[in-house]
Amino acid sequence: MTVDELYGQANHRPWEGATGPLRVGPHTWFIGQTWIGVIVLETKEGLVIIDAGLSGQMWHIFESIRKLGYDPEHDIKLCLLSHCHMDHFSGIHILQNYSHPVVYMSEIEKEWPYREDLCNGIPAGLDYYMPFKPDRFFDYSRPLEFGGYSIECVLTPGHTPGTTSFFFEDTDEDTGRTYTIGMHGGLGLNTVTDQNFETAEEASAARAGFRQMLLDVRDRKVDISIANHPDNIHFFDRVTENKKDYRSFIDGTVWARQIDEKLAELDALERDSRFAKKGN
Ligand SMILES: [Zn+2]
Ligand SMILES: [Zn+2]
Repeated sequence: MTVDELYGQANHRPWEGATGPLRVGPHTWFIGQTWIGVIVLETKEGLVIIDAGLSGQMWHIFESIRKLGYDPEHDIKLCLLSHCHMDHFSGIHILQNYSHPVVYMSEIEKEWPYREDLCNGIPAGLDYYMPFKPDRFFDYSRPLEFGGYSIECVLTPGHTPGTTSFFFEDTDEDTGRTYTIGMHGGLGLNTVTDQNFETAEEASAARAGFRQMLLDVRDRKVDISIANHPDNIHFFDRVTENKKDYRSFIDGTVWARQIDEKLAELDALERDSRFAKKGN
């Protein structure tokens, strides 16, 4: 399927490929569809949701949260936006009006919630844009402390200038084991393809920045990789019959592998670019 078809499926027919609550860590859940979803973290002060979901996806997110024994109207306390593209926030007005979480995003994209032209335009009919007002901006100099969790918010610019990635430790009380969980906020190379640029200089600066960001985060120790776009980590290969058993997601090699796949894609993109120097 094309990206537009995947978007349409997730937004208009969200029951297709709906995961329900899918446990990916001791207190960490993925809720979404095959193409896109949100992460929900259970803390003792309520739920943290990473990304806000698509407008058409919100009922599935709320229903899944109810299945976990929470009340989506009152229990979602924080929303952390990975970046300001519509496929990660088109449902935020529903979330803000119904659940009232404190919404965090990157200050670097502070104009974006009010600028549809910046939010990765979606073809008419697939979704609708509504501006929103975030409550706070990430402080990249210290972890965000909430409900017993310390969430490291790391600026990882490339896909967008304010793309933010999240790292936190999650402990399984039954086994006493603690895992480092990591989610990259945005790895799509669609924003550094040729059509985004007028000149070779612009293209090469943006691609060099993207590459540096990948290299900067590649060697992080992450026991469980999670994702807003599941494909980045070949997520569905790991899903087992028991949706409450997260153990198949424990794999310290996944983090670097997703980065290496993007480095290879970036190499290919640069090689095939119309800005590349051909021959000699
Ligand atoms: Zn994006
Ligand atoms: Zn996206």
